[in-house]
Amino acid sequence: MTQREGGCLCGKVRYKLVMDPVVSRVCWCRTCQHFSGNGTANAIFPTDGMEVSGEMSVFTSESDSGNVINRKFCPHCGSHLFADSSTRPGVTVVRLLIRPTNSIKRHT
Ligand SMILES: [Zn+2]
Ligand SMILES: [Zn+2]
Repeated sequence: MTQREGGCLCGKVRYKLVMDPVVSRVCWCRTCQHFSGNGTANAIFPTDGMEVSGEMSVFTSESDSGNVINRKFCPHCGSHLFADSSTRPGVTVVRLLIRPTNSIKRHT
């Protein structure tokens, strides 16, 4: 088991993942294309194995099939970090594009 850490672009939301992912995937659905301008790279982790610090905003929507999706963002920098679905209790989708923060080289 590997412990993973990450966070949003501005660093106000940080997380630790202490369990291994259940599955990873790249999603090209229309919703992902709308909010990211592209596909999204995700891994699904057990929610019990997540430690999150910092305030988050939640955008709730309903899919065509009636599933309720909660997408969680940093309210300061807008980074999309997590999503959970009413059809998948106990697991959380983690966006992988910004993990881990300290490996991102910023251009100044
Ligand atoms: Zn942020
Ligand atoms: Zn998608």
